[in-house]
Amino acid sequence: MYHRVAPGGRDLRYTVHPRKFTAQMSLLASNDYTIVPLSAVVAAVRGVVSLPASAIAITFDDGFLDTWENARPVLRAFGFTATFFLVAGLAGGSNVWMHQGGHAASPLIDWSHAATLVSEGFTVGSHSLTHPRLDEMDTAAAAREIRESKRTLEDHLGTDVAFFAYPYGRFTDPIRDMVEAAGYVGACSAQAGFNRRNTDRFALRRLDVAGGVSLATFRRNLQFGENNMTPSRLVSYYAGRLARRGAVGQS
Ligand SMILES: [Zn+2]
Repeated sequence: MYHRVAPGGRDLRYTVHPRKFTAQMSLLASNDYTIVPLSAVVAAVRGVVSLPASAIAITFDDGFLDTWENARPVLRAFGFTATFFLVAGLAGGSNVWMHQGGHAASPLIDWSHAATLVSEGFTVGSHSLTHPRLDEMDTAAAAREIRESKRTLEDHLGTDVAFFAYPYGRFTDPIRDMVEAAGYVGACSAQAGFNRRNTDRFALRRLDVAGGVSLATFRRNLQFGENNMTPSRLVSYYAGRLARRGAVGQS
């Protein structure tokens, strides 16, 4: 799960430097990872297809123009597909949902960019109409964000929009059910971990690629399905495993 790919690194939490992004894609290309579309992950979760354990789907939340400018050319160079989750009511606009948080205004992908992404084989998904906290809205308003964003994207792009990503990763059981009822095929959460057969396809797990992450940590995160697998976390991970193994041995 990426958000922004841009130089400058003002917001290291959400912005990956293009050089780092290229190095990460290069690592994926050279380590036998299989880059698959999100539809393949959902098909595997449903048991329709089987994927190698090394299968990875790349996603971008929010539709920042910098992902178009800086990530798309790299993805194309590597022949990697990806899913771009757009805020359907703000295409061609800016990240107004972040302004209150003190973030600068940044431009978002417009409809012509989105149409090009589709024509190039990328997947466009919905990230709602306005990027609200769906779990804090009344039911009708939340349902509208979920349904109308799908319709808006489909009307502009002339293609099925099958995937949703919960804004802020926030969802409840009723929100999840609304997404399914709206006709989506799957939805991405922001919970870390792997997706396996029988994972809820409306609560798909993702690994957050933060701007400050080193290539070594990026690699370990992929290996362990964690968001911040630093060397010290690695030590406690194995210590925990040993402790659990010990506990099993005593029983
Ligand atoms: Zn978002």
